[in-house]
Amino acid sequence: MKLPLLMAPAGSDAALEAALNAGAGAVYFGVGALNMRSGAAVNFRESDLGRVVERCHACGAKAYLTLNIIVFDGELERVAALCRTAGKAGVDAVIASDPAVILEAGRNGLPVHLSVQANISNIEAVRFYSKFAEVVVLARELKLADIRDIVGRIAAEDVRSPSGRLIGTELFIHGALCSSFSGKCYLSLTAANCSANRGVCRQTCRRRYILTDAASGERLEMANGYVMSAADLCMINFMPEVVASGVDILKIEGRGRSADYVGTITRVYRQALEACAAGTFTPAAAAGWRNELTKVFNRGFWDGGYYLGEDFGVWSGCGGNRSPVEKTMIGKVIDYYAKIGVAEIVLSSGDLSAGDQLLVVGSTTGAQEAAADGFRIGDGKVMETHAAKGSTIALPLAFKVRSGDIVYRLTDRAFSGIERKI
Ligand code: SF4
Repeated sequence: MKLPLLMAPAGSDAALEAALNAGAGAVYFGVGALNMRSGAAVNFRESDLGRVVERCHACGAKAYLTLNIIVFDGELERVAALCRTAGKAGVDAVIASDPAVILEAGRNGLPVHLSVQANISNIEAVRFYSKFAEVVVLARELKLADIRDIVGRIAAEDVRSPSGRLIGTELFIHGALCSSFSGKCYLSLTAANCSANRGVCRQTCRRRYILTDAASGERLEMANGYVMSAADLCMINFMPEVVASGVDILKIEGRGRSADYVGTITRVYRQALEACAAGTFTPAAAAGWRNELTKVFNRGFWDGGYYLGEDFGVWSGCGGNRSPVEKTMIGKVIDYYAKIGVAEIVLSSGDLSAGDQLLVVGSTTGAQEAAADGFRIGDGKVMETHAAKGSTIALPLAFKVRSGDIVYRLTDRAFSGIERKI
């Protein structure tokens, strides 16, 4: 069975490591202001490109640069400079939709992946873009049957990319959805003069709204005030069908998300893909994976999304995160003694009890979880069951951490009413 490449987002070094540790076959990332998450994610600098590409390639993963904003004339030289740097750094492809970026990438020998911003929804559009792109990202609003048809027609009609290969296809499988057709939203632009198509979406749709009768001034509070905030797409239950569709790349959304989000989502979909290949994918296994997916940031799930042919209609019902897990920063790693596998941690922001579940996040550590078992305070020889805020502890860890890594305690979140339902 041909498994698609699993592509994970990275908005930071920690997210990059988490993606690679979790089995991403490709990582996509932005640089500076010329990408669709220029306002949300940490993003990398142009000078980071060589290092990021090298790290991806060392792990056998592809490195894709997102350069998919609308570009103005005054930015063309910056685009050209960035494409030159990307070409020298060995970036595997540029994700783009603006013709200026597509042409500039081509001038620098960089393969192009046509961004979801191009709304590719039919075989004619695929044929058109095959003159410029190695891969086309299909619109999130298509049905799986349409996708199977497009993939089949690419092979049947021998639609080839500039390299001479059959043009590839890519599909979003998990993460935030817009309440507008991919790339066609002007909410943030009209409300805050910050264009989503320039990477600075202010998430206007995620807010709670009250309807006002303009004639009387009467304010109507709706049952679900979050009337434009879509729940997240989740395809974990349908991975055999996704694989059978024949698409080449599966994309996880979330360059603005934390390292633990990227690590968890990538790991779960990697396991599901391996199960598809081994013939061990079952509904029960999918239910377990879906439960894992809820443990990191989510706005509730729309299982199957538009791909199942349903009309849009699953709303988040809340403004933010519905994960049942709460992350609280409690301290920082100040040293790690590799020979004995012990981390020295200063509890600068919170206390710690034996058995607490911890998350350690760092630029080379990625996101790793461990239980707080067998720790000592200071130079003490006695195992402690509690360490107060301000203490320095020595904690055995099965994985390597580094000075500066952030330590979080994971606890159950309290919910009320509709917020808990996912
Ligand atoms: S405002 Fe909402 S719907 Fe519009 S682009 Fe931003 S996230 Fe998407």
